Amino acid sequence: SQTILLANRPQGTPQLSDFEFIEEEVQSLEDGQLLLELEYVSVDPYLRGRMNDAKSYIPPFELNKPITSGCVARVKESKNDGFQQDDYVTGMLPWKKQQIHSGADLTKVDPNQAPLSAYLGVLGITGLTAYCGLMEIGKPKQGESLVVSGAAGAVGSIVGQIGKILGLHVVGIAGTDEKINMLKGEFGFDAGINYKTTKNMKTTIAEVCPDGVDIYFDNVGGEIADAVLFSINKYARIIVCGAISVYNETSPPTGLSVQPFLVKNTALMQGFLISDYKQQFPKAIKAIAGWLQEGKLKYEETIVEGFENIPQAFLGLFSGKNKGKMVVKV
Ligand code: NDP
Repeated sequence: SQTILLANRPQGTPQLSDFEFIEEEVQSLEDGQLLLELEYVSVDPYLRGRMNDAKSYIPPFELNKPITSGCVARVKESKNDGFQQDDYVTGMLPWKKQQIHSGADLTKVDPNQAPLSAYLGVLGITGLTAYCGLMEIGKPKQGESLVVSGAAGAVGSIVGQIGKILGLHVVGIAGTDEKINMLKGEFGFDAGINYKTTKNMKTTIAEVCPDGVDIYFDNVGGEIADAVLFSINKYARIIVCGAISVYNETSPPTGLSVQPFLVKNTALMQGFLISDYKQQFPKAIKAIAGWLQEGKLKYEETIVEGFENIPQAFLGLFSGKNKGKMVVKV
């Protein structure tokens, strides 16, 4: 079965040549096992970190081994009592079209409740990250102002909309005018800033947040995050969810010294990892599903077709090719 391996540890921005396609044998099915066929594959910025040989909260990928990510698969055959043929499941799976699986750590999903791809996005880690990060660290209060970066991406677009549902003044930062129009037009953001065409981010953020910034949901880090700090209010909360703008740096980035901003404003800046919030998942999914049903929350997806295009889709995250969640339909 077609399989994608990590062929090289990328230096700087990953290249297609860092991936290798091989045919790998599918073992025969034994008692207790499942034969899975990948349907949707999630590509995510954090996978970049796992391509480095560095200690982190999750072990690095091994060279010449399949890359794994969140996937939706169909049960093609089952010798496991817990699953039937044509069940759909999600889990962390290798990029291998067909594979044998023990059934452990898989979650069944219902294609009649939501499109299968949504389980990798708004009803999966994306939605949970947006909700838990904003609620648990952001502690939003009606009337406050929220700035979110990576705003037209998977997590960012949900964060901003939850902000609107809760009655916040919401500003999104993203990389094209088309994305800014989507944020304001489709998702109801109050304002948007195109960071690629804006000359002075610092003054522009101050202009669109005349009452300052109470919550900053940071998906990108770097200079954009620095610029927001100039507008934070007293007791501001900064959710450090990701830093995609520096994931491809080869040496530690030098930026603004954040401490004086935090001291002066007695502000909180906290790193966020979704795996710490498992206890909140049922509550979060209930809220998200409810808002989807009421039509208060919308989600966008960029669906790339074809297993062979998984590496390309992943690379596209770093040049902003996606609106909403980037997924590959196998
Ligand atoms: P996105 O859908 O937001 O995709 C990435 C987006 O980042 C692109 O669309 C692009 O949009 C933007 N981007 C790329 N390069 C840059 C740059 N140099 N400067 C500014 N923006 C850039 O991905 P996700 O929603 O899946 O993830 C968003 C962030 O959240 C990531 O940092 C990710 O690592 C993090 N994350 C963290 C989790 C956690 O538990 N801590 C869980 C899930 C995600 P544009 O056109 O606007 O540049």
